[in-house]
Amino acid sequence: MAAVSCSHPAAVPVESVVTGQILAALCPTCGAQLPAGFLSCAHETTIDTTSMEERGPRRHCLGCGATWCEQEAGWPAAMF
Ligand SMILES: [Zn+2]
Ligand SMILES: [Zn+2]
Repeated sequence: MAAVSCSHPAAVPVESVVTGQILAALCPTCGAQLPAGFLSCAHETTIDTTSMEERGPRRHCLGCGATWCEQEAGWPAAMF
């Protein structure tokens, strides 16, 4: 999985067309697939999982299991 520099501020729910159940969440900014719990999680318990080669701090939420990078000012919102 590629490293994404995005905190997924505009994540939208992905609903099943059959049941209407929220299956997951998708970030339209970077295209990342997130756990469904991302949307209702306050991300209060996060751990820093930044690796050496990354430019921004990477966080992993223990509540919903999502991972994101905290964007630094001046970084493009999307790479494409
Ligand atoms: Zn994103
Ligand atoms: Zn969370």
